[in-house]
Amino acid sequence: MNGKIFCPQCGKTGVKLFSGLCRSCFIEKTSLINVPEEIDIIICTHCGSIQKKVRWIDSDLSLNDTIIKTVLEHVEIDKSASDVEISIKIHTVRGSIFECLVTVKAQVMDDILTQEFLVNVKLNKSVCKVCSKYASGYYEAVIQMRADTRLLSAEEIETADKIISDKIERLSVKNRMAYISQRVEMKEGVDYYVGSYKAARKLTEALKNVFGGVLKDSPRLMGRDKNAGKDLYRMWISLRLPQFQKSDFVKYNNLKTQVLNFDANKIYLKDLESSATISIAWRDYEKLKVIARKTDIKFAMVTAKTPQLIQILHPDNYQPVDIELNKELSHLQIGEELKVVEIDNILYVI
Ligand SMILES: [Zn+2]
Ligand SMILES: [Zn+2]
Repeated sequence: MNGKIFCPQCGKTGVKLFSGLCRSCFIEKTSLINVPEEIDIIICTHCGSIQKKVRWIDSDLSLNDTIIKTVLEHVEIDKSASDVEISIKIHTVRGSIFECLVTVKAQVMDDILTQEFLVNVKLNKSVCKVCSKYASGYYEAVIQMRADTRLLSAEEIETADKIISDKIERLSVKNRMAYISQRVEMKEGVDYYVGSYKAARKLTEALKNVFGGVLKDSPRLMGRDKNAGKDLYRMWISLRLPQFQKSDFVKYNNLKTQVLNFDANKIYLKDLESSATISIAWRDYEKLKVIARKTDIKFAMVTAKTPQLIQILHPDNYQPVDIELNKELSHLQIGEELKVVEIDNILYVI
């Protein structure tokens, strides 16, 4: 060789070598990308998610786009290539095999090269973990909606169903285990079986925001996950709606009160004697006792008024009853009607 530099591919001498080849042989030998000739995809036939190693990845792409994306993920660009443009087309489908043509345009040294590659993508149909759980009726939690010493009204059940279906639709966007696997209506209430415990918590929260009520959790041991080394629990979440409704009357300690309102956290009461507002937490629900219903409210007419008193006619027996005048009542005139409720033989103005 006499120290002469030559290209082993074409024999050209006196040339600069790139990775042991002359410039044109180097360019000719360069493969712009590295991509396997065969790719296997495992796809869930129910939801279209794709298995990657042990995980299932959700996909909202069409099947064709999923195949193209998978091919692209397997492409490795050669170090010598720059300004790379890749286009992938599915040109033939034979059964479960999608033949894809990958066209690559890139710059190597100062030359623009275009190369084509054929990739066969094989589609293997399967069922992902979530879909198989869903199909088998799997659930992590049960929401039991009940009412305290009464039955749920048809309206409450309808409202609950609506809350559950709206909320589960929103939750399922991010959590595929957010599904209702079963809804059981019984005389005593409704049970919702929920795929995910987390979703069940959020559903319960949404119900409590509307209905208030008392929550109680009862976990039940279902077995053991040997792979994860964990005990498996299912959670029964009971939401007990109050015995009273808004505007009903309850006794709280020794106070006679009217229920003004309630929310997820508290019950708001108005003391019938002082008109003061009291708020109590749901954990003190047991301290409340219903003493009259809003349907017991009656109208009574003012028949006399002095600076200290007003006189009204009892709505049932029409006997005159004196009531102390306070700020709230001072505007009343003779002949006007006001709302009263009788509790323990005492008339209260509401
Ligand atoms: Zn050469
Ligand atoms: Zn699936």
